[in-house]
Order: sequence, then structure tokens, then C-alpha cells
Amino acid sequence: MSKRDFYEVLGVGRDADQKDIKKAYRRLAQKYHPDRNPDDDTAAEKFREVSEAYEVLADSEKRAAYDQFGHAGVDGQAGGFGGGQGGFGGAGAGGFSDIFGDVFGDIFGGGGRRNPNAPQRGSDLRYNLELDLESAVAGTSVDIRVPRHVECERCDGAGAEPGSSKETCPTCNGMGQVRMQQGFFAVQQTCPTCHGSGQHIKVPCHKCHGEGRVRETRTLSVKIPAGVDTGDRIRLNGEGEAGINGGPPGDLYVQVHIKPHHIFQRDGRHLQCEVPINFVDAALGGELEVPTLDGRVKLKIPPETQTGKLFRLRGKGVKPVRGGPPGDLLCKVVVETPVHLNEEQKDLLRKFQESLDGSNSRHSPKKTSFFDGVKKFFEDMKP
Ligand SMILES: [Zn+2]
Ligand SMILES: [Zn+2]
Repeated sequence: MSKRDFYEVLGVGRDADQKDIKKAYRRLAQKYHPDRNPDDDTAAEKFREVSEAYEVLADSEKRAAYDQFGHAGVDGQAGGFGGGQGGFGGAGAGGFSDIFGDVFGDIFGGGGRRNPNAPQRGSDLRYNLELDLESAVAGTSVDIRVPRHVECERCDGAGAEPGSSKETCPTCNGMGQVRMQQGFFAVQQTCPTCHGSGQHIKVPCHKCHGEGRVRETRTLSVKIPAGVDTGDRIRLNGEGEAGINGGPPGDLYVQVHIKPHHIFQRDGRHLQCEVPINFVDAALGGELEVPTLDGRVKLKIPPETQTGKLFRLRGKGVKPVRGGPPGDLLCKVVVETPVHLNEEQKDLLRKFQESLDGSNSRHSPKKTSFFDGVKKFFEDMKP
């Protein structure tokens, strides 16, 4: 049976404001309230319908989702966001409940609520996975331990001890809500006997104590495709929390974080590393051994190489997980000043320095132009 349009259910226009919606809901909820219509299934159904419509239209976020996507935009999440993300096509950021952080908030204080026995999709779970760069680039398979609620095997999720059955809660007649008279006012409350489920379990299942779900830590093997990066998410269908009342399970999202590497920095599909060289090699040129993810390679350094120069090794980066050619490895050479020199070496350097005297502009063009600039800067400041 397809659901009726929520605006139609409440008898309001699509542009109705919150006041109109509330007014319409109050009128209809009073008319169809089970207390006024005992043993009237049609009225009970109407009451549920009206409550569901109100729950969505009274919430600006849900109303916007309903306006845009219709019932598909809000199904499976009425009754609190703990019920999962159905209809939105995957959980958005912030839409997860953390592991075991289900929130079954009764967002509907004081009014009716949706059928507590309707199947509800289980919550999505997120698992934060730290990977080292090598595994992320090559792809790997990891075993993760995930604590979660799974359907109780003993009672098949029903919550009743096998052989016994559920019966309609005698306190609330299956509505999950009771009406309390407090002086002038009648207050709607979650049924204290069945806690809103509308059903009474005579003999609770010994394993799950009537909850229908049990907590369990399961080890899952997750295949990590080659090339994943921080921020990538791997979805394992149906590996989230078990559903409620026979609803489908949620999904498990494995959120990838790449640990910092002691040699390489990653920038998408490119890698970068710093390679220290001594000033003699930098001046005369030479051959360096540089690291790549698949072994050492030789890198030719031309004479007169300055510090900070980048050398690009094509294709030595990362092959992206979504396809495309591999990136490059950028080697940044950094000239290292020699340390711990003995007297003889220092002497050689002094002699070397003397040999440059008088021809600084030729051997150190950068330094010369810099100090020329500094000189001009101070001259310009003179009044
Ligand atoms: Zn059980
Ligand atoms: Zn009850």
C-alpha cells in the first residue's frame, strides 16, 4: 500500500507554516486518538498516519527532505535518527552514530508517535582504519574487530524465548503510549510497561533478555584496494548494526587514514621526498640514489644544482584508486652544510674561499644580486 501524501493527511497546503501544521495535527490527533476510539482499528491507523505526517512536517530538516524526495526522503528515519539513514543514499558526514552510540531520542515530546513495531533499518557504523603508506599504495587486506549489535540467533530477533510468543501490551493496548491525566491536562507518555514497543514479551529470550539483538564483536576481513588515500571510505553492505523489528541491517563504513611516513609526503597521486646532498656534489654534479616505493633508483644531479631544486621522477608516485595513470615522485634536493670538519678540511675551505675572492659575482650570482639589492634598499631609505 502506498503512503498518502503527508500534507494531504494533515489537510494543509504545501506552503502551510508551522502554526497551521500544529493546529491541523492537534485537531486530527484528538479526533482519532485511541482513547476516544477504543477498539477502532481504522481510527488507530489514522492516528498513526497523522502522527507520522506531523513528525516529518514539524521538523524543518525532514520536511525539506520530504519536499524534495517524497516518502523516500524520510522513510526509515522517522522516529529518531538512530534508526538509520534509509532514503538518503548513504550516510553523510555527521550522520553516523558512533559504534554503540545509538540515540533513540523521542523527538516527539507529548504527541503520538509512529508505529513502534515497524521494521527499522539498523544504524550505520564507522570504523577508523589507520594504514601505512606502503599498504595503502599497494592495497592490502586487514582484519578489523567491530563491536556491534547483531540479531539474536536464539529468538531470531523477536526477543521472546523460543516457544513463547509476544502479546499486545495490556497497559497501552499496543499503542506504545499512554495518556496521563494531570489536573486539567492530559499528557501523552511512552508506555512504562512496554517502553513504547506496544508488545509485551511474556518470557524474554534468555540470550538477549528480550531485546532481540545482542552485542557481539566480530572480526571482519576488509579488502583495501590499491591507491586509497586519507578520506576514502569503504562501504561494507549490511555489516552495520542489526535492524529492529526485522528491519535490514545498516552498513559499515571503513574510513581510511594514512599514517605519516618518515620519508615520503603524499599529495594525492604524487609523492614528495627530501634528499640531502653535500655542496660538492651540488657544485660538481653527480649521481644520487633516491628511494621510491618500489626500491632505490639513480638520480643524476647536474652541476651547479641549487638547494631546493625539484627533480621529477615520472610514474614513481601512486596509482590512484579511482583509476588513471600513476603520479610522480618529486625529489627535493637540499644542500647540507658540512659539519664536524677537522683542521685540514677547514684549511682547504679557507683556501677555496680565498680562490673565490674578487670574483664573487661570478661564482655566487644570487648572493651578489641579493646584497646589491640590500645596498640599494638602504640607500633609498636615506633622506
Ligand atoms: Zn534473543
Ligand atoms: Zn505498553
